Amino acid sequence: MALEMRPSCESCGVGLRPESTVAMICSYECTFCADCVEKLGNVCPNCGGGFAPRPTRLSA
Ligand SMILES: [Zn+2]
Ligand SMILES: [Zn+2]
Repeated sequence: MALEMRPSCESCGVGLRPESTVAMICSYECTFCADCVEKLGNVCPNCGGGFAPRPTRLSA
C-alpha cells in the first residue's frame, strides 16, 4: 500500500499539487483542501477521522 498523493480535493475537486500548503489528509489518506476541511468541521466525511496538513516535498 503506497502512499498516494491525490492530485485534487475529494470534495470540491480543486487541484492540490504535491507542494501545496492547503492540502489536508485524514488518517486514512483522504485528501481535501483546507477550505473544505473547515466546512466539514475538521472531520473526514469518509472515515470520521481528523485531518492533518499533508507533508509537502519542500521539506528542505
Ligand atoms: Zn475542497
Ligand atoms: Zn478519510
